[in-house]
Amino acid sequence: MIIAVDGPSGVGKGTLAKALAEHYGYAFLDTGLLYRQVALVVLDQGKDPENEEEALVVACEIDPTTAHDDRLRSPEVSTAASQVAKHLGVREALLQFQKDFADTSVSMRGGVVLDGRDIGTNILPHAEKKLYLTAHTEVRAERRYQELIDRGEKTTFDEVLAHVKARDKRDQERVHAPLRPAED
Ligand code: C5P
Repeated sequence: MIIAVDGPSGVGKGTLAKALAEHYGYAFLDTGLLYRQVALVVLDQGKDPENEEEALVVACEIDPTTAHDDRLRSPEVSTAASQVAKHLGVREALLQFQKDFADTSVSMRGGVVLDGRDIGTNILPHAEKKLYLTAHTEVRAERRYQELIDRGEKTTFDEVLAHVKARDKRDQERVHAPLRPAED
């Protein structure tokens, strides 16, 4: 069983995907973390997330099994993640890991839940179950705002709202694997 959970940021995909995986005893993969990992290394190395060649070198070198850094969830990394995610090369570099993870999990645990933007459309178009979540931009921004405040970050609701809108636009309007519900 492969369950794809797609949708925009702050909609609760991760919470739902994790709960489904726990309920059925399946593996779980937060695919956004892969793009975040690439983005964090790109920023740490002083490279430009908009530069495909630079981001691609990083994407080919990261170890997706070691995504443990508090900064991965920061607003700077969120923005840079959606910038590196526009590049076809980066997406292709991360594709095989996601497919392999799904295959191995199905063999070992009988199923897998992946959350992201293009799981049902591009990564695993043959997934048995496809969920697409959505919610008003303001509701998602409010949730992000609360998360950031709870983590002690200094920000305003308007700043978070602008940030969420910009990221939605980038994710929906990019050429490669844009965010959209799968036909089926
Ligand atoms: O889901 P999360 O907010 O952590 O994703 C960070 C960014 O990574 C997204 O804004 C999007 O640009 C990119 N992403 C993607 N495809 C996925 C998962 C995330 O392009 N499957």
